[in-house]
Amino acid sequence: MKLLEHEAKAILRDRGVPVPPTGGVIREARQLSGALKRAGRGPWVLKAQVLAGGRGKAGGVKLAKTPAAAKAAAQAILGMTLISPQTGPKGVLVREVLVDQATDIGREIYFSIVLDRKEGRPAIIASSEGGVEIERLAHERPEAILREPIDPIRGVEDYQARRIGFALGLTPEQIGPFVKLVKLVARVFIENDANLVEVNPLVVTKKGELIALDAKMSTDDNALFRHPDQAKREDLEATALDKEAKKVGINYIELDGNIGCLVNGAGLAMATMDTVSLAGGRPANFLDVGGGATADQVTRAFQILLKDKAVKAVLVNIFGGIMKCTTIAEGVITATKRTGMKLPLIVRLEGTQVEEGKALLAKSGLPMIQADSLWDAAQKAVASVKSLPAENGHAKRGNK
Ligand code: GDP
Ligand code: MN
Repeated sequence: MKLLEHEAKAILRDRGVPVPPTGGVIREARQLSGALKRAGRGPWVLKAQVLAGGRGKAGGVKLAKTPAAAKAAAQAILGMTLISPQTGPKGVLVREVLVDQATDIGREIYFSIVLDRKEGRPAIIASSEGGVEIERLAHERPEAILREPIDPIRGVEDYQARRIGFALGLTPEQIGPFVKLVKLVARVFIENDANLVEVNPLVVTKKGELIALDAKMSTDDNALFRHPDQAKREDLEATALDKEAKKVGINYIELDGNIGCLVNGAGLAMATMDTVSLAGGRPANFLDVGGGATADQVTRAFQILLKDKAVKAVLVNIFGGIMKCTTIAEGVITATKRTGMKLPLIVRLEGTQVEEGKALLAKSGLPMIQADSLWDAAQKAVASVKSLPAENGHAKRGNK
């Protein structure tokens, strides 16, 4: 799960990492004066709280010297659609603004701890070229990036933090606080089951103090059960349909295509999406009804699929393993009738009692297109949406 800047900075602050004094988050301009007071003296910085970086260049971070300037900044940022290279072309709506006391920046450093999947351990990544996107730096000047693997048992050793500190060009007076900061961030990383804690920039103020000016944090969803606070928090990336599906126990992720896919098993669902793409189509979703694809579950899945107005055809690809194909066929027939589905429906069944299942579908008299293989099904699904009147292209989720 991705955390917002203010959430990540609150966690860092609680662990003792220096962050700017804050007035907290506001959702309306009238909450601003209270936030300015809480942040203490100006100047202030107002920052859009969205799950994407590159906010500075996109107009989502504004410095304000006076309360009047802060008000103008809050009004400009609240409700704006922020478009950065990380949001996709449609951008994201800004609902919250963080009000911090502005920091007097001497220099900006890039600092993060990330789970290095290849090495199977966390690693410190740092660069004296802070503020810029690390991906771009990695591409253009990889030699400017410092790396230090962290032993999962021993944690960060002082000498490792010192080595990075000196390589970053910190002064001897700054090394002590830097080593402390590195160890605290590492502790936050481990305690929260994070796979990323990024401080970009880590600032050295004109007075020589270290301050985490920005923070990005992402935690492992599989460890949510250990973090009730995180589990309670709303998943900001989920759409309304994603949430509805979760409630009824269906594994569903909305995508930007127009072929609704109803599949049992996550692996088969992935293969179905790949095959649809290979056939020249675009899946509208990832949907795994789970192992027990009962008539009820298939009906629920249909209902969710059909609520997505972008869906122009439905492709059912179900493998009868434990479940018999006859049961699945009955489920598809019941669901089609119950939902009054009018869209082209392509069904591919395989597995136990497949012939009997297909016969049931044929006998139902419902207008569905049967397919013999996944490739056949994908091609038929793509053909059925291509024969529809052309529509303007759209993208519900540009960056997925
Ligand atoms: P991002 O663009 O989404 O990564 O947002 P950041 O919080 O990293 O801010 C972007 C840039 O705005 C920083 O690299 C700074 O150069 C500038 N900035 C942000 N906060 C302050 C501040 O308190 N004081 C000053 N002088 N600049 C700031
Ligand atoms: Mn940043």
